[in-house]
Amino acid sequence: MLRYQILPVTDFQQNCSLVWCDQTNEAALIDPGGEIPRLLAAVQQRGLTLKAIWQTHAHIDHAGATGQLAREQGLPIVGPHPDDQFWIDGLPQQSQMFGFPPAEHFTPTRWLQDGDTVQLGQETVQVRHCPGHTPGHVVFYSPTAQRAFVGDVLFAGSIGRTDFPGGNFEQLIASITQRLWPLGDETVFIPGHGPESSFGAERRSNPFVSDAAVRRG
Ligand SMILES: [Zn+2]
Ligand SMILES: [Zn+2]
Repeated sequence: MLRYQILPVTDFQQNCSLVWCDQTNEAALIDPGGEIPRLLAAVQQRGLTLKAIWQTHAHIDHAGATGQLAREQGLPIVGPHPDDQFWIDGLPQQSQMFGFPPAEHFTPTRWLQDGDTVQLGQETVQVRHCPGHTPGHVVFYSPTAQRAFVGDVLFAGSIGRTDFPGGNFEQLIASITQRLWPLGDETVFIPGHGPESSFGAERRSNPFVSDAAVRRG
């Protein structure tokens, strides 16, 4: 089974997720935006072996510590989709703009595409390309755990911002309704910020993407 622990990092309280295979204790960190010592302490506390960094998108609160962590721990960086290259290139400016410590540039070891799978111990995690918040945003979905790590695509009661360069509102709505909803109403998602929810709950009541709101257009 895939297990996970949420570790909110940075002033943006970004939900970095420590995920691991409970058969092998192999672990990955999804979106290490900052606070490397705290993240490594959590890995150590659980007796896990850190194998990779998985990246949903390259905004500073999600990717601020990715380069340094990968270099220091010798970890591969998996994701995001290549359309986020310009956000990776812009990390130094993002650091300055939002008052983050200087972020190291990085080159993903493996770019991700829609339909790819990522292996962690005995767990196979699926990849969905969900553009709209950023063009190269991906979501990680575990069918066995019925969990989706959705970054800034969808929140409990809200959706990701689309007013950044490369953002696109219609595309974001399509990503959510066509690439996330088919994963099932029972699927619980871990958003980049704030509490967990399920796709079914959002289809009932999210003002942006509920079934009623989508029908209204
Ligand atoms: Zn973002
Ligand atoms: Zn964010």
